Amino acid sequence: MRPVEKTACPQVNGMNKIYRRHSLAKADLENNIGFYCSYCEVFSSDLEIEHVISQHQDPALKCSWDNFLLACGRCNGRDNKAAKTVDLGVMHFPHRNNTLLSFTYLEGGHVCVNPSLKGASLQAAEATLVLVGLDKFPGNAKYARHNHNDTRWNHRRVVWELAVKYKADFESGRLTAYDIVAFAQQRGFFSIWYAVYNQHTDLCELLIQAFPGTATSCFDQISRLPVNRNPQSVIDPI
Ligand SMILES: [Zn+2]
Repeated sequence: MRPVEKTACPQVNGMNKIYRRHSLAKADLENNIGFYCSYCEVFSSDLEIEHVISQHQDPALKCSWDNFLLACGRCNGRDNKAAKTVDLGVMHFPHRNNTLLSFTYLEGGHVCVNPSLKGASLQAAEATLVLVGLDKFPGNAKYARHNHNDTRWNHRRVVWELAVKYKADFESGRLTAYDIVAFAQQRGFFSIWYAVYNQHTDLCELLIQAFPGTATSCFDQISRLPVNRNPQSVIDPI
């Protein structure tokens, strides 16, 4: 899950912009973090304003910029996050944590909690995985029944295969790093491209720059490997 840096609330005449309807924040959010679902990372021109704390949980945050992300209808839908109760202190979110460290992406479109996490970090990553249902795929015994309309796993599977196929062309010089990044931008799934190309530091740097709002503080300045976002926290530095 790509970590993002939310900007401060956009300004109008030196004042915080007031969104009379939350949907009016969409263009500002797209400018900030791009046309990507904050959770499953799909590229879409049809994203919804996602209330991190749902309107049901706290109506006062309905039009609050700091409470907004962008999400697809599936991640934000009734099967997944919808109006579930969120506790920011015990869950990982892409605008607060280095969520690239929370999860591991695998061939076949699978997502799991990063097996090297421990303690509160592990629990927070697990809570977020369940909240948005990123590990749903047909046959996962963890879920009683797979909703066949939930094809997020299959989009990841296809993109993983494409990224691997293009990697051979990249390494043999038939495709440039800019070609790869252009494909990635149009497909989304930052984390999959980052995972497949993790040996190519320069390309990872281009990915970080090309996806708007990627939290650059979440990456080591030289190796471009993900680093803790909250190192001051003893309990959960992720
Ligand atoms: Zn999504």
